Amino acid sequence: MSIYNELMKTGNWSERQACLGEEFKFHCAYCDKNLLSCVDNHSEWQADHIIPTSKGGPDSMDNLALSCRTCNFIKGTWDPSENLPKEEIQKHHLIKLVRNRVSVRRQEMQKDLDLYKAILAKHG
Ligand SMILES: [Zn+2]
Repeated sequence: MSIYNELMKTGNWSERQACLGEEFKFHCAYCDKNLLSCVDNHSEWQADHIIPTSKGGPDSMDNLALSCRTCNFIKGTWDPSENLPKEEIQKHHLIKLVRNRVSVRRQEMQKDLDLYKAILAKHG
């Protein structure tokens, strides 16, 4: 039996979740977090509309990526297809653009956290 069929048999998976899981090997498409490794990671499971529906992206599998809640939050309503020529609007390319953006933003957020920690440390 396929992974998909076995997951569906548990009764805990929607078709979309099982398909997304298989497509992205149960890892966040943007930061590679393993979304089956523990309860905390699993509760971060989200389906991201790569081109946001608010910007005209379709609600279909070719516009969906498996994302952790943190990456989805960081990405927000940013549209990776903005200003791209039509031939570059392909799922794998858009995911690469989101990965880069999320990674840069994470580093900036980490710098903020380091600053906050330094402030706290100064005050013992
Ligand atoms: Zn992630």
